[in-house]
Amino acid sequence: MGIEQFTGDAAITGSDALIVVDPQIDFCPGGRLAVAGGTEIMAEIELLAPRFQHVVVTQDWHPAGHLSFASSHSGRKPFDTVAMPYGEQVLWPDHCVQGTAGAEFHPEVEGTIRRAHVIVRKGYNPEIDSYSAFFENDKTTRTGLAGYLRDKQVRRCVFVGLAYDFCVAWSALDARREGFEASILTDCTQAIAMPAGDGTTVDVAEAQFRAAGVRLI
Ligand SMILES: [Zn+2]
Repeated sequence: MGIEQFTGDAAITGSDALIVVDPQIDFCPGGRLAVAGGTEIMAEIELLAPRFQHVVVTQDWHPAGHLSFASSHSGRKPFDTVAMPYGEQVLWPDHCVQGTAGAEFHPEVEGTIRRAHVIVRKGYNPEIDSYSAFFENDKTTRTGLAGYLRDKQVRRCVFVGLAYDFCVAWSALDARREGFEASILTDCTQAIAMPAGDGTTVDVAEAQFRAAGVRLI
């Protein structure tokens, strides 16, 4: 799909919200569910955040023994998929466990965290994973973010953070579902890129972006 130009400060208005998805230590190299290149985007996000009036950060925040962890399923290993009552679920290494160092925000986005008006914690329900900033993976249970953004008269959500083909993708698609414009700044995100069909989870996500009108910047 075409990548549009990010046309400078003029492109950002007071009705835009920057949504920084899961900028956490466990998703960066050295962490428990590391996304290659994850650390490099943190400094870029830190430069970007002051240009937005509305900044929202999400934080993956699992209780120990969460059902999305491979360690909670005997005989399963990370990146297997299992059927959950709400649909197919990828099993992950234990990550972002509440209160652990890996669940903390990356130190290079310290200013962004300070600037954020809202931090949305997700994945705290022991039995349901939550990739999206808007809904848990049952696609029914709301996080409350859509209501907040509507109250603030936000029209466009600009997504950055980790990982492009999971939590960023699901968040952007749900933003469209909730009636917001949705853009992803590709320089400020990185993918896990697991094999899927003839390609990867990136190809799957980008096909969905095209269908839903998610824009890449
Ligand atoms: Zn998680």
